[in-house]
Amino acid sequence: ISKDILESAKGPALTLDGQRIKLYINAGLSADTDVAAGQGADGVGLYRTEVPFMLANRFPGEEEQFRLYSHVLSRYPGLPVTLRTLDVGGDKPLPYLPIKEDNPFLGWRGIRITLDQPDIFLIQLKAMLRAHQQQGNLQILLPMISSISEVDEAIRLLRQAHFELCDSLGDFPLPQVGVMVEVPAALYLLPALAGRVQFVSVGSNDLTQYLLAVDRNNPRVADLFSPFHPAVVQALAQIQRQCGELGLPVSVCGELAGEVMGITLLLALGYRQLSMNASQVARAKHLLKRLSLGELDDLKAAILDSKDADELSWQLHQPLSSAG
Ligand code: PEP
Ligand code: MG
Repeated sequence: ISKDILESAKGPALTLDGQRIKLYINAGLSADTDVAAGQGADGVGLYRTEVPFMLANRFPGEEEQFRLYSHVLSRYPGLPVTLRTLDVGGDKPLPYLPIKEDNPFLGWRGIRITLDQPDIFLIQLKAMLRAHQQQGNLQILLPMISSISEVDEAIRLLRQAHFELCDSLGDFPLPQVGVMVEVPAALYLLPALAGRVQFVSVGSNDLTQYLLAVDRNNPRVADLFSPFHPAVVQALAQIQRQCGELGLPVSVCGELAGEVMGITLLLALGYRQLSMNASQVARAKHLLKRLSLGELDDLKAAILDSKDADELSWQLHQPLSSAG
């Protein structure tokens, strides 16, 4: 990493025309390393709690989870830390919860598992809430939401856990709750979601996989997996526009949000909050300093008109080449 980039890493993320962009980090593996590298980020946009679960050889208990979450929250005093509830299944198996299915990506995954196993879910929610009671900066994110009833049921369980804890700990505020927009169905549910949750986070990895019917991990179809496909771009634009109309804060936390082309695209579409791997934050800040939102906004129509990913990358080339 050059000195220039390290220098950019220090201050807040600003574009060439002085607009503030919020940059968050994705974490899960080693919170401490991520924290060290992510200094200067605006908080944690996605903490994948399944990672510590996958490294264990049994379900971690409430106390163990509480200590971990509380530690993560304590590293970002005053900044939001978004803990995503367990998102296993699909490509993320738990050794102690064997699942055998023909179509794991369309099967028992994410919120579907935790709602079917409320004991596991309640332990996790209680551990998260206790960490929040202590630290005060938790946001809870629900993965793989495809219907409103899932959100209602998850919030009902969260309130139940909160009610039980308030009995012993005294009253404390509920954390903000958000949902991942990563199953295409969620695109059509945004107005109903806006009445229930305080923010959404776009999971562009799964959104791309499910919109294009392309397995995100299958090398044979890797060429077809493109978040720059016009259908994905239209979906991203629609989510941003609708969330704006609904006053629902939105960020993007898929891989797209940490890559040069992806950042440029997302800014042009109007996104102002991005969550990325800790190692990408310094570079992203460096890039932002060279991009003008005014110039990107002028490109939006051409971007939405692009007929394929090649044409889109050609459109994005102009601001990027002037960014150097
Ligand atoms: C996503 O799907 O884009 C996402 C951020 O979640 P994960 O990669 O953990 O499925
Ligand atoms: Mg996902």
